[in-house]
Amino acid sequence: MLDQWVTDDNDITEIRHAHLLPFRKNRRNADTKLVTDTWHATCGKTNRNIRRSNKEHAVTLDLILRNATLPDGRRGVDIGCADGLIKTVGPALDASATQEIDVGERLVSSPFIDPHFHLDSALSLGMPRFNQSGTLLEGIAIWSDLKPQLTQDAILTRAQRYCDMAIAQGLLAIRTHVDICDDRLLAVEALAELRQRIKPYLDLQLVAFPQNGFLRYPRAAENLTRAIRRGIDVIGGIPHFERTMADGAASVRALCEIAADNGMPVDMHCDESDDPLSRHVETLAAETVRLGLEGRVTGSHLTSMHSMDNYYVSKLIPLMAEADLRVIANPNINITLQGRQDTYPKRRGMTRVAELHAAGLTVAFGQDCVMDPWYPLGSADMLDVAHMGLHVGQLTGRDAMKFCFDAVTSNAARVIGLEGYGLAVGCNADFVVLDAPDPIEALRLRATRLYVIRRGKVIARTAPRVTELAVEGGPAVINIATYGPNLG
Ligand SMILES: [Zn+2]
Repeated sequence: MLDQWVTDDNDITEIRHAHLLPFRKNRRNADTKLVTDTWHATCGKTNRNIRRSNKEHAVTLDLILRNATLPDGRRGVDIGCADGLIKTVGPALDASATQEIDVGERLVSSPFIDPHFHLDSALSLGMPRFNQSGTLLEGIAIWSDLKPQLTQDAILTRAQRYCDMAIAQGLLAIRTHVDICDDRLLAVEALAELRQRIKPYLDLQLVAFPQNGFLRYPRAAENLTRAIRRGIDVIGGIPHFERTMADGAASVRALCEIAADNGMPVDMHCDESDDPLSRHVETLAAETVRLGLEGRVTGSHLTSMHSMDNYYVSKLIPLMAEADLRVIANPNINITLQGRQDTYPKRRGMTRVAELHAAGLTVAFGQDCVMDPWYPLGSADMLDVAHMGLHVGQLTGRDAMKFCFDAVTSNAARVIGLEGYGLAVGCNADFVVLDAPDPIEALRLRATRLYVIRRGKVIARTAPRVTELAVEGGPAVINIATYGPNLG
């Protein structure tokens, strides 16, 4: 376990990680060199600044994060954890702990959450061929060709490798859509097994996703029933891929009824199209209200809203708000898959994030794909996703940028209904310590995840990104994270 890196001496109860010096000092030359040396020394279990337990401390905790900045702007906060939970949050905590980390005013956030992903196809890039047109439809065709060749082991191995990468990036909960249009249901089996195996480190939610259409694929309904029995968490759909608009609406109705009958939430790929007349989100909102599913239904993508008539949208958004619909945009995928039939101007395709957020809907960003038939890039980095969403949505105001950080943390957690998430007392002791002083700087830098913590234990650690420079008169070593503005 990584916490053994920190101490194997039971008498040592407080540890100051000297490499985490106060963030906002613009360090140069000697100071910056110290950071590098101390980091490597720490990994080598030497040169630590350690002091002994103060026996007067009344409370002994498992972990204390000292001197944190929180996403809401609070500074100088100590977070005390025990039994996997947050026990106390406040300044100058008078307690000791088995492990203490002074984060030097850096940002401590709850972990990143990906509310929309496809773990069954992740890391399958080039299998059996590359997507030359880059379109959604060629991606679906490639996936259909690959499906018969898949094995349960191959899916499990790729998915597990992806989860390793996710954990390293501080991404500790993923809602993944799982294709049920493979009658063997190999992906359901593989990911249900992985959900159990990975649970100590990462929460997985599985959405039954009829990739080839719930009504269009002959055995989709039967496979959905089997997937529900196997313990799938959420009902999915893809109404814009059904043969007709009428079939699309019928699929929404049928799937919402199945969800209501089984007490399950809904998360549909909905209107992932440039067609302004693709209005299945209207049916999704109406069915949500009819069946009393408010707050439990999510519309993913909703890219047709980008191209819709403004007057129609002025009616639609209040209808979505009435249904308390949750919204997920997938900026990396929307900006690359939408607008493919356009010459110029080319539409961006991302849904109306700012307007939906302003109307009070919970809006999150998802990653959708990493190195698969639909998207050749990605690295499980939700800051990368939020960075793209910020640009595509022109969300450059201070509050708008903070919203983009929320869209891959707290909003995403709310969309998937993750329990115990947050930085309040009683929440799970899950954190990511970022080499940045605030959420906006974290986005700008796609900041290094210095520590990833799950249930009070360090499960991943990354060295600060330090570069040696050979510039006459310049610093010998720099960390670009220390070059940000001091906006304190
Ligand atoms: Zn998707």
